[in-house]
Amino acid sequence: MKNFFLILSVIAVAFTSNAQLQSPDEFLGYKLGSHFTPHYKIVNYLNYIAAQMPGMVKVEKYGETNEGRPLLLAYIASKENFSNLENIRKNNLRLANSSADKMAASEDAPVVVWLSYNVHGNEPSSSEAAMLTLYELVNPANEGTKEWLKNTVVVIDPCINPDGRDRYVNWENQMQGKMPNANPVSREHNEPWPGGRTNHYNFDLNRDWAWQTQIETQQRLIKYNQWLPQVHVDFHEQGYNAPYYFAPAAEPFHEVITAWQREFQVMIGRNNAKHFDANGWLYFTKERFDLFYPSYGDTYPTYNGAIGMTFEQGGHSRGGLAVVKEDGDTLTLHDRLLHHYTTGMSTIEVASQNAVRLVKEYHKYFNASVQTPAGEFKSYIVKYDGTDRIDRLKILLNKNNIDWGYINSAGFTGLNYQSGKIETFKTAAGDIVINTNQPKSNLIKVLFERTSKLSDSATYDITAWSLPFVYGLKAYGLKDFATGSSKTNPLVEAAPVAASFENTYAYVVKWNGLNSACFLSAMLNSGIKVRYAELAFRVGNNDFDRGSLIIAKASNYNFGKDLETIIKNAAAKNAVQVTPVPSGFVDKGFDIGSDRVRFIKTPKVALLADKEVSSNSMGEVWHFFDQQLGYPITLINADDLGRMVPGDFNVLIIADGFYNLFTQKEKNDQLKDWVRKGGKVIAMEGAAAQMSNAEWGFKIKGSGDDKKDKDDAKKDDYSLLKKYDDRERESISNSIPGSIFKVEMDNTHPLAFGYADGYYTLKQDENIYEFLKDGWNVGVIKKDNYVSGFTGNKLKEKLKDGILFGVTDMGKGNVIFMADNPLFRSFWENGKLLFCNAVFLVGQ
Ligand SMILES: [Zn+2]
Repeated sequence: MKNFFLILSVIAVAFTSNAQLQSPDEFLGYKLGSHFTPHYKIVNYLNYIAAQMPGMVKVEKYGETNEGRPLLLAYIASKENFSNLENIRKNNLRLANSSADKMAASEDAPVVVWLSYNVHGNEPSSSEAAMLTLYELVNPANEGTKEWLKNTVVVIDPCINPDGRDRYVNWENQMQGKMPNANPVSREHNEPWPGGRTNHYNFDLNRDWAWQTQIETQQRLIKYNQWLPQVHVDFHEQGYNAPYYFAPAAEPFHEVITAWQREFQVMIGRNNAKHFDANGWLYFTKERFDLFYPSYGDTYPTYNGAIGMTFEQGGHSRGGLAVVKEDGDTLTLHDRLLHHYTTGMSTIEVASQNAVRLVKEYHKYFNASVQTPAGEFKSYIVKYDGTDRIDRLKILLNKNNIDWGYINSAGFTGLNYQSGKIETFKTAAGDIVINTNQPKSNLIKVLFERTSKLSDSATYDITAWSLPFVYGLKAYGLKDFATGSSKTNPLVEAAPVAASFENTYAYVVKWNGLNSACFLSAMLNSGIKVRYAELAFRVGNNDFDRGSLIIAKASNYNFGKDLETIIKNAAAKNAVQVTPVPSGFVDKGFDIGSDRVRFIKTPKVALLADKEVSSNSMGEVWHFFDQQLGYPITLINADDLGRMVPGDFNVLIIADGFYNLFTQKEKNDQLKDWVRKGGKVIAMEGAAAQMSNAEWGFKIKGSGDDKKDKDDAKKDDYSLLKKYDDRERESISNSIPGSIFKVEMDNTHPLAFGYADGYYTLKQDENIYEFLKDGWNVGVIKKDNYVSGFTGNKLKEKLKDGILFGVTDMGKGNVIFMADNPLFRSFWENGKLLFCNAVFLVGQ
């Protein structure tokens, strides 16, 4: 057996040494950049290189996309390092103080450079560049790269988002004639909805690194955290008229970014500039692309000890194979990939030249993390509130390799996140602590800080993501480490269903988190009839709050004894506690047979899709139903709304978008008619704003105040004297990139069931609605409800005394309008129950 294997290897070696290693051009049969390469051919090329160069390249499949495409990494190293790759990885984790073994780390180690391509599927040149980069790293004729590989290990992710890439590439390949058409107006430059930027569920994977809500990210981050490279590049494309962008990044830089991380960004930028200057290519640095929001492919690596960067070539979506730019020059796909290839190689070059320093500084970074963590707070304590919210937080911490523990009961002093004041408090069973003296201390600081310090307010994305608000949990920031914690301190486990089936009258499940909603979804999918309590009630020693789910045997006799089995299985799967009650007679509150215990008519849910709809927002709803709730949802093209058969659906979700529907009287009236007959519309963000102009019974605040604004302007003429150079700053006073506000909830209304202390919303626009005379002002902000994040001065004035979440009743139906999106990027965990209330409880 051994001999046979040996012979095979000899044959393989003989074959490779004779055959010329094929370049991408030779392997694909066309000049790179003359065609769009589908993902499977990129996979084939990687596997080909690995097979030809078994002593230098390994290709590893780390997962699959939603559509079943493989996710791959290629590891490239010198023969010597390659044979020692696993030890290099382990030593690298020791340098990061992140190794489970307590062995000493060696600084005499190669630097690890990780190159990520094509996170946005319609930025296709980077995956083409990945093939060329891989080839030149191992091409025997290229002596320069062999020199770099002596002290550098390169990891290539050729395509982070294969589903998006193929959506784009397959479309482009259908559009192409024999010759590319460079006229930007031709249809090969105008991508149809939803575009290839995002993944299968229309999620932007370059906003998902920290939250890991998508399977591509979840699978990749496991590998990423097993390596923790010193350098990470995320390759992108921008509008085709823009020159190339590379590091150093623009302000704001988050304050945790170290002097060395800044310095090396400049070193990389200068090296890239040298190569671009030699070719006479245009580029810019220090503008537009900042380092702040923690879930990007540049910031996340940066907050994890790497030099993390974004490189941007012109040409995304509309670049085609060739396009005429506004300066009259033609930009080709070949040019674009050559630029990305050049910066990739330049990054490896400069990393190799500085490998010793990079490894030393990296070690220093992680030693500082463990010994002298940055930030005002040394620990964070999060209170257990009896719901599943803290479990979801623990899952997020685990996914990011952030260590946490249960804290023993004791008294502490710290900053109360909710009040913003220093207070004393006591810990109790189930509370957790996150001490910051650990490798991920900078990431912890960024994710937990109540208010982020902005060095410049012109940022690219949201400015608030403080985890206690995202999860709706009480939390404290402490000036000292909090000792006395352990990971094994047991939680009070949910008691199993104890009573016998025969002695049970009904089963009750509390309504206090996404787990309750997933359980309800499972019940409805099984055809089990469920009710909910409109008011709190007590049975024996058990208190049940509003919204509690009640499954009475009375309505479910057709299931026989299977009823209990189905309930038990769903309860175990969704980690909810089921309480059997022996009688319909309750000790306090309304009896189970009361009409204050409402029957939940099975929601038959439709979601508008297609080109009038924001693909991200629609994707968030789709993903939520499909992947989290496990509840059926029908996607309907907005144009086909008129073909909806009455009775097929009773819930219609209209995500953010620009809808013709609300400007066309006939269609608008048809929809109103459907609601009056018992339909329910859930309108989100822009959809709600457009409905407010189409007489749906709610009005955006300030929409009639234009005259007053103009009058004010006249009084103060000097304010009109704006400097041209200040134009970007000016626009900021009217901007809100994403800030947190506390919403006061009327939790006697079903839309707010399960929210004891109000709701923290991520506000991303200026829309706020007038208080309703006829309708339910469920979620409102009053005078001082701003909590965190950047909000322009003019907007801060405007965002008070109005509704963000409201309900109007129309005939037999309802309209629920949501000024903000509680499912935003699927990471705003505390919003998910609010959305479930709208779908399952309101209007029953
Ligand atoms: Zn991009």
